[in-house]
Amino acid sequence: MAMDRIVKIEWGRLPGSRPRQAGCNARLGEHGQQVQVSIARLTTQDGVTGLGRAWLTREQAQELVGLSLAEAFDPPRIVRERFFSLEYALYDLAGQLARRPVYALLGGQPDSTGAYRVPCYDTSLYMDDLHLADDDLAAALIASEAREGFERGHRAFKIKVGRGALHMPLEAGTRRDIRIIGAVREAVGPQAQIMIDANNGYNVNLVKRVLAETVAARVYWIEEPFHEDARLYAHLKEWLAAEGLSTLIADGEGEASRSLLDWAQQGLVDVVQYDVFRPGFARWLEMGPQLDGWGVRSAPHHYGEPFGNYAAGHLAAAVRRFEGVEWDEATVPGLDASAYAISNGCVNVPNLPGWGLNLDEETYRRAVQESGFAVE
Ligand SMILES: [Mg+2]
Repeated sequence: MAMDRIVKIEWGRLPGSRPRQAGCNARLGEHGQQVQVSIARLTTQDGVTGLGRAWLTREQAQELVGLSLAEAFDPPRIVRERFFSLEYALYDLAGQLARRPVYALLGGQPDSTGAYRVPCYDTSLYMDDLHLADDDLAAALIASEAREGFERGHRAFKIKVGRGALHMPLEAGTRRDIRIIGAVREAVGPQAQIMIDANNGYNVNLVKRVLAETVAARVYWIEEPFHEDARLYAHLKEWLAAEGLSTLIADGEGEASRSLLDWAQQGLVDVVQYDVFRPGFARWLEMGPQLDGWGVRSAPHHYGEPFGNYAAGHLAAAVRRFEGVEWDEATVPGLDASAYAISNGCVNVPNLPGWGLNLDEETYRRAVQESGFAVE
């Protein structure tokens, strides 16, 4: 085990970009085109490296350097809380040392073609239409964006709704949401999955109206319809059942209620969406199987840090009711993710050690020098 002692921790930020600007959601302004991923790289005494998204200070890194890999894990698959800030790099390092993908360390098996395929969805359908006065043009724009995702290999699409919460007058915004949902369904065909995400911008009556007027579009889940509330969710569940609608309720990203898991266990929330970085991978490895046991679905939230596109797919190996990777398309110069591919609605997770990602040495070294640190 002494061989696995970590003698160096580097950290730096790599900027990247989405293929197009991301607009508003129900509560926030433009999300823009730029993304960023903060990458830690761990080097062992033997010169083996592990990389992963991390958020820590030089002082914290200083305290952790010198640790052995065995110290970081307990039981073997779960990173100890003290090392959470480096958990993604630690999982990569474990995979590099074992010469196995992280999903394989978690029990995941490639299919007969050698591919490990995990469902994913296109999360890029933001409110990019707010500058348009005409609903037809707005619907055509978002439908064309969905079509771009379809061409990229996606077969599931999440649409931001709640235009009437802040950015548009209530009635006009709600009408436009409904138009857009229908237009996206038409653009992606009957087989695709469509979800909507109100970022807490609806209320119960608006949810009922939107779902009633989009029955033909078959909305698979409604995400964060309003700030989660057990009584309102119970009411909505009854209404959905009475209407014969199978739309699921998804919630849990951001500042979720402390009662969210209890409500999930009670059947009031169907899909739990805690973030893949906060609380993180190790926490998900514990929580996912617990949710499985309750019959609750898992769909880790992730946005704006492309590392989550890749890491979330590995998590599927440990969570039976894993719904899909939230895919925020972006490229990050210096972070080579070319072994990942999307086709037919799934991420093809590479059968390579660790996360299957590589750093360009020159670009990363510059990032460490200019925006990060290295401790030995
Ligand atoms: Mg969301």
